[in-house]
Order: sequence, then structure tokens, then C-alpha cells
Amino acid sequence: MADKKHNSAGNEDAQEAHGLAEKLRSLPSVSRLLANPEIRRLAENIPQTVLVQAIRHVLQQIREELQTRSDCSTPNYADIVREVIAETQRRMQPSLCRAINATGVILHTGLGRARLADEAAEALWAVAKGHCTLEIDRESGRRGSRQDHVRSLLCELTGAEDAYVVNNCAGAVFLAVTVLAAGREVVLSRGELVEIGGSFRMPDIVRASGALLVEVGTTNRTRLSDYMQAITERTGLILRCRPSNFAIIGFTETVPLEDLVALGNSHDIPVMDDQGSGALLNFVKGKGTVLDSVRAGADVVTASGDKLLGGPQAGLILGKRRYIERIAKHPLARALRVDKLTLAALEATLRLYRDREQALQAIPTLRYFHRSMPEIVRLARRLHRALHRVLPKERFRIEYRRDYSEVGGGSLPEERLDTFCVALQSADGGLSSETIARRLRLAPTPVFTRVQDDWVLFDPRTLESEEIQLIADTVRTLL
Ligand SMILES: *Cc1c(COP(=O)(O)O)cnc(C)c1O
Repeated sequence: MADKKHNSAGNEDAQEAHGLAEKLRSLPSVSRLLANPEIRRLAENIPQTVLVQAIRHVLQQIREELQTRSDCSTPNYADIVREVIAETQRRMQPSLCRAINATGVILHTGLGRARLADEAAEALWAVAKGHCTLEIDRESGRRGSRQDHVRSLLCELTGAEDAYVVNNCAGAVFLAVTVLAAGREVVLSRGELVEIGGSFRMPDIVRASGALLVEVGTTNRTRLSDYMQAITERTGLILRCRPSNFAIIGFTETVPLEDLVALGNSHDIPVMDDQGSGALLNFVKGKGTVLDSVRAGADVVTASGDKLLGGPQAGLILGKRRYIERIAKHPLARALRVDKLTLAALEATLRLYRDREQALQAIPTLRYFHRSMPEIVRLARRLHRALHRVLPKERFRIEYRRDYSEVGGGSLPEERLDTFCVALQSADGGLSSETIARRLRLAPTPVFTRVQDDWVLFDPRTLESEEIQLIADTVRTLL
């Protein structure tokens, strides 16, 4: 019995292998596809190498499918040609491209965090297109410092004595801890042993910079006496890290930065505040700004450029001159150097802060955060009308939903911002909301939405009014 069964299974295997070989042999060759008139027409504007790679990719995918699924039949020639054309077009599209953020997440890390002000984008473009005054003293014609473009602005806006800018805030923290405390002890509260995202974990950063971490207090409560007891002749730094992406509520106690500064001063130990968000204006009462940290007397303050500041990715290091000068001279500072495009965008963004009202209007992060409900409703109604015009009523339902937007980027996690979304759903169930959202993401100008309870939500909070028509055009061509 067992043998017979085995034999028949073996026969089936053999038959299947034969069938597979047959199917594989019936696939068109690369050269036959290259000679196809439709594909040849495409080749007029597309490099041959791209075309050949696309053909090989499509054929390989078909082969793999045939090999893994025995019920699969060879696709017909016309379908293969169509797939080659689609694949070629995909390969010709830029990978990093502009996207429309209808998620309502103001600082969406996946979508590039802060959207730049027009002034910043224009400054960046001007510097990108030509040569620029990156490191040149115009008076003498001699070499200058790239930091000059932002140093005095940062000092003017924050009250800091000195400033230095690097590639991002994680780099700023790493550099500052390395310079101030390598080979020494860093005192940090257990309530601030945080992970910012990815592999950026405070304890790891301290260790990687060659310092020894000394944890004090508990997760929810740390007192000044905890810090005092931890200080020895080996202490190199008292570190404070803002819990920017989570909140500890209830029975809690933290030490005001002023008190840490007083403690540090009395022992001649520097105090550093990793402020994180980079907020120059007050967003929410009780959430400190960069100015608060400087005012409290922190020797070094670190912050991101592309969170609540609303500028390009950058790490700001502000504080007392004696420390900033040491930081600027360290070899790591060179390794974390900020580029001219970033500096152009950062300088232009910072300039806007000289006038509070101008900053609130021109910097999208600030404008979106403070957007009023009537304005959001107005945008939602326009989007609703635009979608109605392009979608057949019998196939799609378009409604409104009250919901919440988020700040995102690991900033202000407790803030729920009231918003008013346009909700889209296929009326006949022909397309799932996931399918609709995916098609929108894959469009030439991708549109990112939120999917909730089988509805696709468009949150106008993070949209510019000219993007409404763009969304409608994308929806029309895809659905
Ligand atoms: C976001 C954040 C960082 C990391 O900033 P990046 O600019 O993303 O490198 C570090 N510390 C705090 C407190 C933060 O909020």
C-alpha cells in the first residue's frame, strides 16, 4: 500500500516537473520582447539597459510564480508585454519624489518630517543651482566658516552665547557627550533612559561616546538629592533628556533644569539639556522651548532642526562659548558636518522667526499646528466637492469624519488636534480601503492617507489648498 502510494506520488511529481518545464519553455525570450513594436516604441526615450533589466525582472517573476504555484498557467504574450511596459515606467520614475501628506501627521518622519517654508525652499534652490558663499569671507576673500551663516541668528533668537550646527540631533547629542564626558561619568535620570526612534537610545549613545552612564532616581520620580548623591570626582556631565515621544503621568517628580544647573555650577560640572523638539515658540503650556532651556542656564542644549522648529534635518548645539568651542574643534564635528543645502534652508527658516507672526504664517509646521477648525472645514468641503466631480456616485461614498490629527515626529505625543476629514469608500465593495490607499501611494505624485474602519481618510490639516486639485486628479486617474 505504502509503496503504491509512494509510486503514484512520484508519478505526479514527474508529471508536474514536465508541465513546469513546458510552461517555462513557452515564455518569450528577452530578444523577442525587445523586438516587440510596442516595447520598441518605448525604447526611443528609455535607455536600453533599463528596458532589458525590466524584461528580465518580469520574466524572472513569472518563472518564480510558475515554480511555486503549480496551478499557475503561463500568462499570454500581450499580458507580458503590458507588464514589461508598466515595469519599465516604474523604473523610470524617481524613487525619492514629492508626496502629498493627507495623513494629518504634521511631522511625519516617513514623509520627511517638517515641510519647509517657501522661503527656505527658495534659499536651498538658489544655493543648489550655483556656487555659493559657503565658507568664504567676502571682505577678505579668504576662507571663512560655514557656521557663520546661522551662528549669530541662533544666538539672537535663543539668547545662547554660542551655537554650532551638525547633521541631526542624534549626532549633536553624540558629539556633545563625547566632547564633554568621554572617559568620565554621565549622570542621567532613570525616567530619561529613552529611545527616540530607530537605534537612538540614550544609554547606548552615552556608552558609544565612551562615557560611563550613572543612572539616578526611578522611572517616575527623580529628586535633586538623587543627583547630588551620584556626583563624584569622576562625574563629567549632568544630562537631561526631554521625554519628547511619551509621557509619564500620575505619581511623578522631576528636577527643574534650573536646579540641575545650580548643582552643576557648584561642582563645576557642565549640565546638558537634550531639548529635542527645537521649538522656538510656545506650542503647549508646560512643554519647554529651546529658549526656556537656554534661559534656565544649561551649558549645552541640543535640538532637532526638522521637528517643531519646522526647518531642515539638522542638529542644533547651543550654549556657553567655552563648551561650544571645544565641541566645534573635535574631529567628530567634521564627520557630522552639515551641508550647504541644509544651511541655506536653516538660515532662511530662522530668519522667519525674527517676526513671530511671519513665522506662524510662513512655516508650515507652525501653520498646520495652529490651523483653525473653520479653515480645516473649508478645505475639507473643497476636497469633498473635487472628489465628487471626479468619482461616479454609484461606485464611491464620500463623507466627512470628525477625527484627530497628530503632531508626529515623536513630538507632543499627548496632543490630539481636532480635525475634520473627508472619508472615501467604495460603495459596491469593489475596492477595499487598503487597495485604494495603496493605489494612491503608488501614483506618480503619491498621496498618503489614513485608513480607518474601512474608510480612506484625507485630513486637510496637512494640505495646502493647491494640493486639493492634485489629489482629485490622482483619484480620477487611479479609481
Ligand atoms: C528627536 C529627538 C532626538 C533625535 O533627533 P534627530 O534630529 O532625529 O536626530 C534626540 N533627542 C530628543 C529629545 C528628541 O526628541
